[in-house]
Amino acid sequence: MSFTNNTKEVLRLLKDAEGYISGERVARGLNISRAAVWKQVCKLRKEGFCIDAQPRLGYRMVIPPDKLIPMEIKDGLKTSFVGQEIFYYPKTESTNLIAKNMAMDGSKEGTVVTAEEQTKGRGRLDRNWLSPAYKNILMSIIFRPEVQPSQVFSLTMLTSLAVVKAIKTITTLNALIKWPNDIYIGSKKIGGILTEFSAEQDRVNFVIVGVGLNVNFDPSIYTEIKDTATSLSKALGKEISRVELLRSILEEIEKGYNLFKEGRVTQIRNEWDTHSLIAGKIVRITSFGITEEGVAESVDEDGCLILLDYKGKRKRIFSGDVSLKMMAS
Ligand code: ATP
Repeated sequence: MSFTNNTKEVLRLLKDAEGYISGERVARGLNISRAAVWKQVCKLRKEGFCIDAQPRLGYRMVIPPDKLIPMEIKDGLKTSFVGQEIFYYPKTESTNLIAKNMAMDGSKEGTVVTAEEQTKGRGRLDRNWLSPAYKNILMSIIFRPEVQPSQVFSLTMLTSLAVVKAIKTITTLNALIKWPNDIYIGSKKIGGILTEFSAEQDRVNFVIVGVGLNVNFDPSIYTEIKDTATSLSKALGKEISRVELLRSILEEIEKGYNLFKEGRVTQIRNEWDTHSLIAGKIVRITSFGITEEGVAESVDEDGCLILLDYKGKRKRIFSGDVSLKMMAS
């Protein structure tokens, strides 16, 4: 949906008003008719804003929202393609699934899908991703890189790096990346990246990169993750604006993706390495039923983990079907 200045101005007046503001005042302020005000209110409601309308009182913004509403996210978003098209769902199965369908229908690169709640939120290997409504960031982006399937992991890398950088900018917290796809604060998980793609033998059709990030929620409400998860508000001691954080994530993703397209993967990898939770640590990797232990040395440009085993041999571990545990060193 495209928004005129009138829509934006009506929104601003409603947000600034303390309580109700009459349709007449809005109309006078913007030099438009009351019917035109009503039309804009309907548009805003469709977009996801909750606006109460009362016969003698006028209009009132019910929850000055920290909802992930596209118009809010786009307001001040400094990108040229990532997030220029945003689709918002109060509740959906999974943003990756919606984005995948959109990509198959031809949606363009940089299209973003956000949701407040997922009924089938997933992590890797179909594990559940838990997130109560209106608390966290759940979003997916469509990419159409002209690369080989083996290069797709770079998108997981640049997205996790973007998330960590945005967290630093907005909260000053130092988050770290646990290879291959998790974001941590201290010893607890605050987010995960889920990358899925469609490809031919030697070319990629599209890539969907999903981000689930715990922002303003208390993980202790879920027994499954109460001991292993945290959120930004928990780490910070106060709630933060999800819209502002998401905007910053999208901006960082675009910067990273531009580097990727310019072939500057080494730069992404090097920076990623400085935010690695596991670099130099002893880890246990299980992949396809085989378990190996060793020191996590670094990650190469295809996103493979370089593991130095106890015999002094180096191995490249693919990120596919792998579970990684950190061992006490
Ligand atoms: P692990 O975190 O065990 O290493 P993984 O990296 O493969 O596994 P994902 O598949 O990315 O994890 O995410 C799913 C897992 O994350 C779930 O099995 C659950 O343990 C955990 N999880 C689910 N929801 C959340 C959440 N909101 N915050 C933190 N962790 C979560």
